[in-house]
Amino acid sequence: MTRDPRYDVLFEPVRLGPVTARNRFFQVPHCNGMGHRDPTAHAVMRGVKAEGGWAVVCTEEVEFHPSSDLSGFIEGRLWDDADIPAHERLVEQVHAHRSLAGIEFVHGGMASGNLYARLPALGPSNLPVTGHEPVQARAMSREDIADLRRRHLQAVQRSLRAGYDLVYVYAAHGLTTLQHFLSRRYNLRDDEYGGTLENRARLLREVLEDTLEECEGRAAVACRLVVDELLGEGGIERPEIEQLFELVGELPDLWDVMVGFWPDDSRTSRFTHEAWTEDHFRGIKQLTSKPVVGIGWLTSPDTMIRLIRDGVVDLIGAARPSIADPFLPLKIEEGRPEDIRECIGCNICVTGDWTSTPIRCTQNPSMGEEWRRGWHPEHFRPAGSDAKVLVVGAGPAGLEAAMALGKRGYDVTLAEATRELGGRVLREARLPGLAAWIRVVDYRRGQLAKLPNVELALESEVTADEVRGYGFDHVAIATGACWRADGVGRWHTTPPVLDPAVETLTPDDLMAGSRPAGERILLFDDDHYYLGGVLAELLAAEGKRVTLVTPAPRVSEWSVNTMEHERIHRRLVEADVELVTAQALAAVASGVARLVDVYTGRDEELPLDGLVLVTARLPNDTLALELGATAIGDAYAPGTIASAVWDGRRYAEELDGEPHGDGVPFRREVVELAPLGVEVPA
Ligand code: ADP
Ligand code: SF4
Repeated sequence: MTRDPRYDVLFEPVRLGPVTARNRFFQVPHCNGMGHRDPTAHAVMRGVKAEGGWAVVCTEEVEFHPSSDLSGFIEGRLWDDADIPAHERLVEQVHAHRSLAGIEFVHGGMASGNLYARLPALGPSNLPVTGHEPVQARAMSREDIADLRRRHLQAVQRSLRAGYDLVYVYAAHGLTTLQHFLSRRYNLRDDEYGGTLENRARLLREVLEDTLEECEGRAAVACRLVVDELLGEGGIERPEIEQLFELVGELPDLWDVMVGFWPDDSRTSRFTHEAWTEDHFRGIKQLTSKPVVGIGWLTSPDTMIRLIRDGVVDLIGAARPSIADPFLPLKIEEGRPEDIRECIGCNICVTGDWTSTPIRCTQNPSMGEEWRRGWHPEHFRPAGSDAKVLVVGAGPAGLEAAMALGKRGYDVTLAEATRELGGRVLREARLPGLAAWIRVVDYRRGQLAKLPNVELALESEVTADEVRGYGFDHVAIATGACWRADGVGRWHTTPPVLDPAVETLTPDDLMAGSRPAGERILLFDDDHYYLGGVLAELLAAEGKRVTLVTPAPRVSEWSVNTMEHERIHRRLVEADVELVTAQALAAVASGVARLVDVYTGRDEELPLDGLVLVTARLPNDTLALELGATAIGDAYAPGTIASAVWDGRRYAEELDGEPHGDGVPFRREVVELAPLGVEVPA
């Protein structure tokens, strides 16, 4: 197949100073939770992006000196020559597919507590660090500034030795000293680095000039810049950015622009839409003759060409769309955009960074597993036999297992009790803000339709006897899980007293269309991810008076890892949902709920008409147990949609593979021991 000529513009080369991007697809720097701890896994993951057609593939933010380390986040590191080989490996992987490798240096300054290095944090002014670590940043002296410039330059030199084609100067996301110096809010200095914009931009200009001089003719220099902090007055706003471009607009070879802080930049689909950055980026190109790249949760080729044609950006920036589908550019180039695995905007990928574990993705189960388990987003190990496989249940686990087995070449039957594919995704995507999640089903439905060796049997609720009679060689049970109605979860591990006279509903009931009859609804969220908040939003929108009670200190506590918690809180408050944190539902008796404060044990009463319990699920594993068959996904252990998809892939990968036995079921990189050195005195 050849590509649609409408998309030709996306495949035009773009000159970036001394180097040329072979097309307009640009994987902007993104964190991955692997960084300096898992260098080979990281390198191979970036290589797969290059293989998939991204003309430029960048690292995450890379620390260049221990005076600003970002631990406990696992980011990149180029502190000294010892770190060069890891970067060489990454560059090799990217170059193997004719792409350009970019590196983004970061001086976190007052955005990092320097927990690993223990050196005092540095910033433009004497102010507490922006996180909640109980330390302050020290106002940088002229000597500190000279140190920063020299160390940045040394890192640039090392990056050139490692072979990078593009080097970033980073002043964005609220995460870097160069941005903190620009900001009137943080830069309270009265020397030549403070006061006027020209002074506040001095450090950025100096670092840009140092970097350009070093890279001259060898690598492009990109500047990543926030173009509006979204803080209103006091924050960096567009008029100031326009003045800044008058000062430094022609310096770098490329501008990489972004909006707000990281939770704004990577906002989830629950709170945004494709190309949301467009209005913020308009006009930037008119401020400079240099090319501009920007992100905007861009997954559709039609939106991409429009942004190029309208002169909004020159290159299509992507982090999450490149995670969900590392082969997005190639699929457009090969004229098969319907094969794109579109990002659903859930930010499960971001949780890898926040939990310092390898990146994962709801749509792309191979993300982070490319080297560790040898999984590829597009290529599958051929079937080891002509065995016939039955997959029961077409939720995310069953869909992924059937698709991956089909791509391996097995004859597969996918039996689904209902008349539609999708399982929990189908139900959840109908909830407020989660519509884009249906892409998990759409992609797999499209792929299954192309696999003649996979047969779909809808409206086929199978029993153990039937399965035994069919004579399949392998059976995978992906029958999902059900929400509990008895209140058992994290807080209550045995059922609490619940008044049978008070109508009690589960998320399954609500998703099936039931609604509590009464007006005052208590929703007890002991699940702590998105669902409790989403259901509260649903009921409030339908006119119920909702009180959300959670034993956690914040609503939707775990969504701190998807960077959604602030927006969730705001949305619920705006919907008039009453938020009761750090309290648990102890019992419901005589039409009254008793709440207990999780710290003091003090209790209070709350009258209610209906109760919604979002606590825990039970696997639907009867069929698996009856058959002694393998359960996968939520039927094995209830979890996220991402973990169900991943488990479906694991089943398909491991069928006819070597059993792991008691061994570690994946590769890992073990630290090489250094010489013992001087002993600590007893
Ligand atoms: P997971 O998240 O693990 O993929 P889901 O709950 O999303 O699980 O999906 C489970 C699917 O299995 C649902 O679509 C459900 O209709 C289907 N299912 C459950 N029991 C049977 C059965 N006995 N036969 C066929 N399909 C079943
Ligand atoms: Fe997109 Fe979710 Fe995958 Fe992240 S985890 S890339 S947001 S689908």
